Amino acid sequence: MSSPTSRIVLDAIEKDFGRQRALRRISLSIEQGEYVALIGANGAGKTTLLRTVAGLSRPTSGSVRIADVDLRRAGPGLRRRIGFVSHASLLYPELTGRENLQFQARLFGVADADSMIAQLGELLDLAAILDRPAGELSRGNLQRLSIARALLHAPRVLLLDEPFSGLDQTTASRLQLLLQRLVDAGHTVVLSTHDRAIVESGPHRLLRLDDGALVEDRVLASASVDRHAGSASPLLVPALRMPPKLLGATLTIAAKDLRIEARTRDVLGSAGLFALVVLITASFTAPVGESSTGMATGVMWMSLLFATLLGVGRSSGREHAERGIESLVLSPVPKAAIFLGKALASLLLLCLVAIAVVLLFIVFMAGNAPVHVLGLAGTVLIGMVGLVIVTTLFAGIALGTRLGESMLPLLVLPVVIPLMVGAVELTRQALGGQGGGMGIWLALLAAFDLVMMMSAVATFAFVIEE
Ligand code: ATP
Repeated sequence: MSSPTSRIVLDAIEKDFGRQRALRRISLSIEQGEYVALIGANGAGKTTLLRTVAGLSRPTSGSVRIADVDLRRAGPGLRRRIGFVSHASLLYPELTGRENLQFQARLFGVADADSMIAQLGELLDLAAILDRPAGELSRGNLQRLSIARALLHAPRVLLLDEPFSGLDQTTASRLQLLLQRLVDAGHTVVLSTHDRAIVESGPHRLLRLDDGALVEDRVLASASVDRHAGSASPLLVPALRMPPKLLGATLTIAAKDLRIEARTRDVLGSAGLFALVVLITASFTAPVGESSTGMATGVMWMSLLFATLLGVGRSSGREHAERGIESLVLSPVPKAAIFLGKALASLLLLCLVAIAVVLLFIVFMAGNAPVHVLGLAGTVLIGMVGLVIVTTLFAGIALGTRLGESMLPLLVLPVVIPLMVGAVELTRQALGGQGGGMGIWLALLAAFDLVMMMSAVATFAFVIEE
């Protein structure tokens, strides 16, 4: 008798992408320990169906239940039951295989990461690739690492989108054996494939999609072999602790971004260089002196605004490159932590850029005006917090659209106008040594930051969802 711990129930699932209907009223139930092959022509809807069950794609109508819990209300416990192998690796190319897996282990609360990595290394023959940057791996090796990523927390439900593509014969056989052992140990496995040989060499059940509709659902010959789902001893048994909560997950994600930045110098290089070039060029052309301070501060803030667009755009673009962001969405951490972690890392990096820009600005463009140092520091900090929050939120939207990064300025610029006006006015006052009148402006900018932060935290989960 099936227990519901990994039963998947789809009830009248439909999915539209604009006018394109990708899934048509799909209802089915997959029991614990079933091994299901999903087939269908290109564009039939296999990937969309798997992404919907994984919780990466929200159905237009209908519901998905896993272990009797509606996926829309999935808490950390349910998230940890699901593992997903996608077309994209969901790995960070700049990190080594081991670092990628360690990062995943932290997100999923896997306490014995090193021992799990060692076990998976053996099962998937990862020894030669674990300590190489994921971006340098061949397609097949990346696929093996991606399968290890999905298995690290020993999910009860394993969803694999064409997992055999790119694998050599030996690795493919290894994976077939591994999937079979997982099924024997009671895991539910659903994989999509175009390969008849794979369909005929393990799965118990075949589902065929055609133009988004389920047109065939039949038991396969391999199911007639006496099956004792869950009777074998568990293959992977990680020591699990509570996954990190908001603060822990925010810091973990920010630390990952800073580690990547330390390797690539991508954000600092692009944003810093841009801001400095603008400022140095302006310093040769703009008049110097108290009367022109307003214009000069405008130039300074414009350079910081565009540096932020460039820096956050690079950091978010990197997250979307191998769909690393989806590995974050699949993890059991609060979605707000994804936003806060990315924003925190960008803020730290862009504050470094801002410090350099402000110092140069004072030296080259502010003339001999007295400086209210505390007021200036507060203005720059509050201004940068606002710019980073707005840009990080809109980067999530822009990168989900066809226009991608080029859409970012169009979204951000209208929203930050009040912030820019306030920051320029405050900077002008600080450079005139007038700390006294700054309180009300600072309060207004802080209120802007707070409202934007609350809106971003409340909406980011929807922004990054398909
Ligand atoms: P393949 O075997 O080629 O991987 P598939 O069976 O996995 O195909 P899906 O990728 O699920 O098919 O696509 C189903 C339909 O949904 C296709 O018509 C596809 O163009 C459409 N589709 C999928 N994702 C999107 C998207 N993000 N935006 C618009 N249309 C999409």
